[in-house]
Amino acid sequence: MSASLSPRFDLHAHSTASDGLFSPEAVVARARARGLDGLALTDHDSVAGLAEARQKAAAEGIAFINGVEISVEWRQTPMHIVGLGFDAAHPGLLAGLKATQDGRLERARRMDASLAAAGIAGTLVGALRHAAHPAQISRSHFARYLVEIGRFADPGKVFEHYLTPGKPGYVPHRWAALADAIGWIRAAGGVAVVAHPGRYRISSGQMRAFLGEFRDLGGEAIEVSSGNHMPEHVRRFARQARAFGFYASQGSDFHGSPDTDLGEFTPLPEDLPPVWRLLGW
Ligand code: AMP
Ligand code: MN
Ligand code: MN
Ligand code: MN
Repeated sequence: MSASLSPRFDLHAHSTASDGLFSPEAVVARARARGLDGLALTDHDSVAGLAEARQKAAAEGIAFINGVEISVEWRQTPMHIVGLGFDAAHPGLLAGLKATQDGRLERARRMDASLAAAGIAGTLVGALRHAAHPAQISRSHFARYLVEIGRFADPGKVFEHYLTPGKPGYVPHRWAALADAIGWIRAAGGVAVVAHPGRYRISSGQMRAFLGEFRDLGGEAIEVSSGNHMPEHVRRFARQARAFGFYASQGSDFHGSPDTDLGEFTPLPEDLPPVWRLLGW
């Protein structure tokens, strides 16, 4: 790759190690086939897919960056922090991820009961069939099961009617604190990144408060460009990156087709320092 050209990196993607549809190896193969120069695999609260993905990336000749997407709760709002470029064997990070993951199965049992009370029985058993790792059971797996049995045409509709706050199948969960997630990532030598900021339903004042807190706790980057973002989000969060002095990250948030595919996001504005500068590229 030439020094004057931005490398084509996708720094946000999921595999069967959390709620993606493809194995870690298959995600890397697809990244290669789509002409990317590098990939970070960022499964929810898990680093279980990284070794397999790294090995495949070496065989395919593309760059690989360790990643994870940690679920946190900030002022009662669930938010996501991506970690990049950390040591995946760091005991503090592993303990933190384990603690974050631990309640998932229990939450899933309560979701099952809640959906049963709303007239849809057997969803936990069904959702587990979609999860490669039961401990990583996610709302996505419930959504896929409800699509499978024909209740809804697509997962988005399931979320809208059953899996979001105020709806019958929604069970709140106590995730990590923002300070913890950033602390684990940094202790393991990584960079903390705000994931898809355009997705959070908070006011712009709250967003500024969040970004200030994130920076004060040691957060260094923000996903300016995401598969979840409209062009106006990219412009808005580019401005926030400049205002807060953040590095800029980019990623599709790929979960498997027919979603947004790997490499599908708006290019970063050229004046922003890209996060891969902190990662040795
Ligand atoms: P969980 O970590 O179990 O709370 O599940 C969150 C996951 O559900 C996210 O990582 C997304 O993959 C997926 N998700 C959240 N909201 C939606 C939505 N509106 N439509 C489709 N998938 C969603
Ligand atoms: Mn997901
Ligand atoms: Mn996310
Ligand atoms: Mn994600």
